[in-house]
Amino acid sequence: MPHPTPPPASKPDQATAARDPLTACVHCGFCLDVCPTYQLTGDENNSPRGRLRLWREEAEGRIGSDPWTDFYTQECVGCLACEPACPANVPYGLALEQVRHRHVTEGRDKPDWRLRIADWLARHPAWFNATMLPARALRRLNLLRHRNLFPGTPPLVESTARYAERLMADRRPTGPRVALLSGCLMEAVFRELNFATVRVLIENNVQVFVPATQGCCGAFQEHLGLAGVDRLRAQNRQAFGGDDFDLVVTNSAGCGLALSKTLAGDKPVRDVIDFLNDLGPVTRERGAAAVTKTRLYVDLPCHLIHGQRVDRVPERALAATGYRWELAPLARECCGSGGVYHLRKPENAREILAKKSAFLNQAEGDPVWLVTTNHVCMMQWNSARAAGLVRRPYEVRHLIQLLDPAGK
Ligand code: SF4
Ligand code: SF4
Repeated sequence: MPHPTPPPASKPDQATAARDPLTACVHCGFCLDVCPTYQLTGDENNSPRGRLRLWREEAEGRIGSDPWTDFYTQECVGCLACEPACPANVPYGLALEQVRHRHVTEGRDKPDWRLRIADWLARHPAWFNATMLPARALRRLNLLRHRNLFPGTPPLVESTARYAERLMADRRPTGPRVALLSGCLMEAVFRELNFATVRVLIENNVQVFVPATQGCCGAFQEHLGLAGVDRLRAQNRQAFGGDDFDLVVTNSAGCGLALSKTLAGDKPVRDVIDFLNDLGPVTRERGAAAVTKTRLYVDLPCHLIHGQRVDRVPERALAATGYRWELAPLARECCGSGGVYHLRKPENAREILAKKSAFLNQAEGDPVWLVTTNHVCMMQWNSARAAGLVRRPYEVRHLIQLLDPAGK
């Protein structure tokens, strides 16, 4: 039987976050219906309430270290849909982070070699960028084929920081001053999204700075429970702490959530689309045929709407794309990406995506574009065709690309 709708929960404040998350749950069950792994399995242990109970029983010594606790901990997507659904404001994400870190430290959870290499690269951006040069070259030529890679033409050598400097000197915007998180994977592989972000901001008279000393936001390490997140946070507090800009913008929801925790109390962190939505961005003019035929289906990333609690549709930004758009039918549900979840639990991730992407098979429009604002969600959506979940052509776009003066 469906649970009644809970009262809306506010964003957890400092006092909530400081509480022991394992004792805060009142077992009401309001979170069950929003949890993708509970929906998938119907298993109480695979729900937020079930996981919190297992973790608490273990912390209080009522059960020992148990492989089933480890299993259910790793089953969690980390989508955070349970947080806003919770009337007791349980900081579930904080609990998950702490438990995963303990499990990795105790050797109960062992991220595989692919994830260890990715962790090392994320902490060494110069190496990451150099290593991914061939990948960028192949993407430019549309020769790199992988089911999770969306089409794109990233710049080969020039960094986002250098590009922003060049464009700032050329256009001399006079409006709000923002710093951009260029990210690790974004900069190394999907740099075209960073360049588009810089172009759109500057076209809208925003001054853009890309601090050279910034590092990985730490979201990847948080998802996995890896050590060393504190060092990345300290580096970014230093990099984004100056007075040259008033706020920080990100073009990836997961990175935005991680950075907003790092800079809490120091600098506001905003999703770039949400920020542009308030400004009212320059509208792109489209030909009548494109406007009539193209259809955008908009998805809302979990780490934006649940994690950062920016749960509003960016209607002005969408209108400025010049295309017809509508929300995807399950826009507020998880796509199964979960940062690295699609790598660790591919079968679950596929099942979650199957439900969410089914509508594309009947969707109107030619072309059909699935639009989101998170590159990891983009990769997950892009996999739906190769995985046999969607049988018709569609493409995946970041919303910033549709606002881009150099875009199509
Ligand atoms: S984070 Fe998502 S998958 Fe994990 S318990 Fe909460 S709702 Fe379920
Ligand atoms: S986590 Fe929150 S919503 Fe879920 S059972 Fe506990 S108190 Fe209720």
